[in-house]
Amino acid sequence: MSALASAAIVAIGSELLTPLRVDTNSLVITEALNRLGLPLVGKAVVGDDRQALAHTLRHFLQQADLVVCCGGLGPTDDDVTREAVADVLERPLREDAGIAQRLRERWAARGETMPEINRRQAMVPEGAVVLANDRGTAPGLWIDIGRQVVVLLPGPPREMRPMLDRLAGERLAARATGLSLVRRIVRVTGRTESQTEESMQPCYRTWSGWQPPVWATILASLGQVDLHLSATAPRATDAEAVLAQAVDDVVAVLGSDVYSIDGQALEVELGALLVRRGLRVAVAESCTGGLITSRLTDVPGSSRYVERSIVSYSNLSKTELLGVPERLIRAEGAVSEAVARAMAEGVRRCAGVEIGIGVTGVAGPDGGTPDKPVGTVAIAVALGDDVQVATRRFLGERDMVKFQASQAALDMLRRRLLEM
Ligand code: AMP
Ligand code: MG
Repeated sequence: MSALASAAIVAIGSELLTPLRVDTNSLVITEALNRLGLPLVGKAVVGDDRQALAHTLRHFLQQADLVVCCGGLGPTDDDVTREAVADVLERPLREDAGIAQRLRERWAARGETMPEINRRQAMVPEGAVVLANDRGTAPGLWIDIGRQVVVLLPGPPREMRPMLDRLAGERLAARATGLSLVRRIVRVTGRTESQTEESMQPCYRTWSGWQPPVWATILASLGQVDLHLSATAPRATDAEAVLAQAVDDVVAVLGSDVYSIDGQALEVELGALLVRRGLRVAVAESCTGGLITSRLTDVPGSSRYVERSIVSYSNLSKTELLGVPERLIRAEGAVSEAVARAMAEGVRRCAGVEIGIGVTGVAGPDGGTPDKPVGTVAIAVALGDDVQVATRRFLGERDMVKFQASQAALDMLRRRLLEM
């Protein structure tokens, strides 16, 4: 049997072409295929339409050794995957006695008679190998076409996954190239995509000469840059070893701008630091409206280090709840380093913890002035006798300003903890 060297995925279901459902299966399938050293040449989302599906299958069979389809294997008329595959392969559908028997038993076990329409699920293209489904009625199918393979998997993720895992361990592993593709994600904040790229370019050149080579892609999103590193080797451990070296290089070049070497969120890494240092935090949020605390508390176990948070939006609440002097707000303005500092110190005092964070800013679209335009945010971190304060200018819409302010505040504390 020749090795399968490339793959394509087709996610099938009309609901996946609406804004209501996302195709998540293809990501899980991609990961499993990549682990077997199988790169994707493409993927598609197709509705429950026999002709459209046949067209897509023909298209991918011209490009890929393996085409994995998921969805459209149900008993109802809208599920047409089996029929479309039979059309493309020009093979008749025959009832599989084993599947029909198992389906009847499944219904009988619940004390019911199987509806006639379920017999459709026992129809398989000639020559197909049936893949058992322990969690549902729709079996999967493996169909050899010369040196190519078409695999049909059920749509529900909880049924698809165990079937995929078994395939990855057995049939697909036996036909894999014997190479493993492994990825590492390094996450960076505090510099732009182009600054990161410029610093990293000498490393890229070095890595491409390694055995096996390490390839890098850079992906920027709001307030952070991700470096995706990948390597392909006969053994996954060899790929992992070169990736570990490459990660060391990234950290040597970018220093503390790297906040995660394994794709974790900033709040997760910060939480781990707080636990390690045995410190607790209280937050006073104005323009971020609770977003910082929401992110901190997204992390399981955050009750160990998040003591409280006060969303202090009005000037009155800053005075009443945090003890920010009214005359300070009048003299400096609500958006000022002095007020951010007083908020951080105030919330820390109320909570009786080691760390206080204070954030106040102009999220927009209104409220900007020439010296404090929209996007101006003052951030303070009080820890020990030291209060660090900074004023930042963020670009973008209201939600973007809020997110970047939360990112900057969490990152300011992270860097402060690293220095300890
Ligand atoms: P089906 O096998 O087409 O009957 O799919 C049944 C259900 O599985 C759908 O209603 C979806 O909820 C889910 N589903 C199907 N395809 C996908 C996919 N690609 N990603 C995530 N969920 C899916
Ligand atoms: Mg469907």
